[in-house]
Amino acid sequence: MKTVDMVIRGGKVVSSQRIISASVAIDGGIVVAVGQDDTMPPARETVDATGLYVLPGAIDSHVHFRDPGYPHKETWKSGSAAAACGGVTTVFDMPNTSPPTGTIEALQMKLRAAESSYVDFGIHALFGDESVDHLEDLLDAGATSFKAFVGNTFGNLPAPTDGALLEGFEKLAPLGVRTVVHAENSSIMARRQKRLRDAGRIDPLAHLAARPAVAEIEAIGRVATLAEWTGARVHIAHHSAADSLYVLRDAKARGVDITAETCPQYLLLNTNDMLRLGGILRVNPPVREARHNQPLWDALREGVIDMIATDHAPHAPEEKTRESIWECDCGFPGVETQMALMLTEVNRGRASLMDYVRWSAEAPAKAWGLAGVKGVITPGAHADIVIVDMDRTGTLSENRLRSISKISPWHNRAVQGYPLHTLVRGRFVMRDGELVEDAAGWGKTIKGIQAMPEAQVRHPETFITAVTEPGAAAREADITRSPS
Ligand SMILES: [Zn+2]
Repeated sequence: MKTVDMVIRGGKVVSSQRIISASVAIDGGIVVAVGQDDTMPPARETVDATGLYVLPGAIDSHVHFRDPGYPHKETWKSGSAAAACGGVTTVFDMPNTSPPTGTIEALQMKLRAAESSYVDFGIHALFGDESVDHLEDLLDAGATSFKAFVGNTFGNLPAPTDGALLEGFEKLAPLGVRTVVHAENSSIMARRQKRLRDAGRIDPLAHLAARPAVAEIEAIGRVATLAEWTGARVHIAHHSAADSLYVLRDAKARGVDITAETCPQYLLLNTNDMLRLGGILRVNPPVREARHNQPLWDALREGVIDMIATDHAPHAPEEKTRESIWECDCGFPGVETQMALMLTEVNRGRASLMDYVRWSAEAPAKAWGLAGVKGVITPGAHADIVIVDMDRTGTLSENRLRSISKISPWHNRAVQGYPLHTLVRGRFVMRDGELVEDAAGWGKTIKGIQAMPEAQVRHPETFITAVTEPGAAAREADITRSPS
């Protein structure tokens, strides 16, 4: 038998379907065998996983590595180091950097910055009124997917108009590309925020008052309608409210290709934490009342929400602790703490490890065209693996974060369950809880391996390209005149 690079022995290998005692053989960055230890080929290196669980590395659909543009908040190198140490092997980076990732030049800058990444990555390019005319060019230049800021957030990128959203979906539907949507209604929020400020509200809960769940309900509904009409694929970022779950559920039942993520903050935190933490927990959408927490867990279990992402969105401590809630930047780091937080909930019995693997790895792989290649530990897949200790206890500390921005609402939270080792395509990026420094730059774009399922276009005869092409008017007149 050929000698392979590595065998991980003695652990329990987890998929969304089962947990089996098995060894994993890796060669050339690919899983080549999973099975009984006595069937494994000889290996140059053996990793002892006795008493540990072997999971597919997490795929985080939603990070802001702030690079280029905000090196005091985060860089690709620091953010991807945080990912590696959090058990995350693939990230998708958001376009509200400076310059925003809506031009070829800006995309090239981001791809250059990402050359320092420890983990594999996709790039969500900006889908806005200005970039809508060259979405195909952005795809050709390396974008893997798009992000539309239908609700405003850090960077204050203007929301695309509904007209631009429809036209962009008409372009992306035939290509099968998925668009992430920040689904909150900007007009509602801007008006309410002004009214609250005028009334003198600067307290933490004023942030929630400015962004009621109906803003999320309306935006998801609008996006689902346009996606349904065109056949475009969409993904709802950071789903926050119990009240808006019916919109997702109904859209899925109608056959809309809509996926959704929620984040640990919406599952585990609520307004009680907002009162305690103030601006540190300011995030868009806001964490809501405690009544929203459990329905989001239920939605994950039912598959109404597909996956866990983090919305890793670091800011400097002084940007998070200003007196007025309106002056505190929105978001906080999360890519490094997600796995420990969720494994803790698994230990508490709120979900199984198999559920967790489905939400953290398999579902995002499927949504972004990586099914069978990432997010699973099976022969032929990338050896993106995290080995976790479900018994290890500790306390999350912002001082230990690899992120540049060391301020987190999870500071001092007790956890049980930690990622110990992280491998990206067979190479350690974290070992024994320590970053493997010289693995910087090992991360690669997933562009070349991304394979979205076949596109399902609807109503192409109404698309702007069809009705503006030469002869369209005459053809329509013909149709109108023909006897029915
Ligand atoms: Zn975000």
